[in-house]
Amino acid sequence: EHTFPPRVRFAPSPTGYLHVGGARTALFNWLLARHTGGAFVLRIEDTDMERSSDEMVQGILDGMRWLGLTWDEGPGVGGPHGPYFQSQRLDRYRAVAAQLVASGHAYYDYRGADARATASETGDGGPSAFGPKQYDETSVSLSAEEVVEREAAGMPRAVRFRVPPEGRTVFADAVHGEIGFDNAGLEDFVILRSDGCPTYHLSVVVDDMDMQITQVIRGDDHISNTPKQVLLYEALGAPVPGFAHVPLILGPDKKRLSKRHGATSVMEYSAQGVVPEAMVNFLALLGWSPGTDQELFSADELVERFDLEGISGGNAVFNPEKLEWMNNQH
Ligand code: GLU
Repeated sequence: EHTFPPRVRFAPSPTGYLHVGGARTALFNWLLARHTGGAFVLRIEDTDMERSSDEMVQGILDGMRWLGLTWDEGPGVGGPHGPYFQSQRLDRYRAVAAQLVASGHAYYDYRGADARATASETGDGGPSAFGPKQYDETSVSLSAEEVVEREAAGMPRAVRFRVPPEGRTVFADAVHGEIGFDNAGLEDFVILRSDGCPTYHLSVVVDDMDMQITQVIRGDDHISNTPKQVLLYEALGAPVPGFAHVPLILGPDKKRLSKRHGATSVMEYSAQGVVPEAMVNFLALLGWSPGTDQELFSADELVERFDLEGISGGNAVFNPEKLEWMNNQH
């Protein structure tokens, strides 16, 4: 069982600047931590080296600092805190993959079809490029000696998680209630690519476990990833965190918020003269309701009132006039 107070995290992939949706996710996590006296961890998910860049990391940190979303811990003990970088923890992910093979929860796949994971395995729509098919076998179909032979010969292989063929994987979601998926509908998924890089599912679970995260608040585009991650926690004997999957932000035309609707990076709003107090107020009310008609809040007032119960299950609509109005009031 998890202990109180909560430990939460914001885990951006540095493949773009801090956009409105990411900033809102960061803010909800920060508000929960500050409301409860818990901890807020910032973790840069930069295992996809080709798509990540230092410039984007800097852009995310700038956006967080501008909004005042301070994070609490990280490897820089004694100095400025963190953030954590997944690229510095690759050995840990490899060790856990090996542990899962040893415990029978995962197996080697020598088919060479997964030097890069598919988009669903990176969790953030990454590119998929399949390597040539090399060996038509996985360790599931091989004897123990045959596996040892292939390992000794250094054959490239990915590691796949073995999804139980039957049963249901169920988790509690603070926004959507209980959510369940039939295991039969989940395929054995790659956790370590043949190039030794972890997929999103593995690194996110190992980190949330090691960093003792109690509540995962993230976009609801991750709901279909969650059963796989719950299976990983269970296989590792780790407590499963609570989840709160926050609905999408839509543009005024009710389509998913994107560049078409204007600025999407929070620092662009800063450049346009929006003050951070107004942006924080505006983002907080994008999908969270204080339960009253009050619309203007300082960050302190938001901290005082925030709770997961106030997050709406419906999509939030970005209203630029509302932001402008709030900016004039702050
Ligand atoms: N790096 C993932 C993303 O940016 C994190 C998802 C999560 O919070 O688990 O989508």
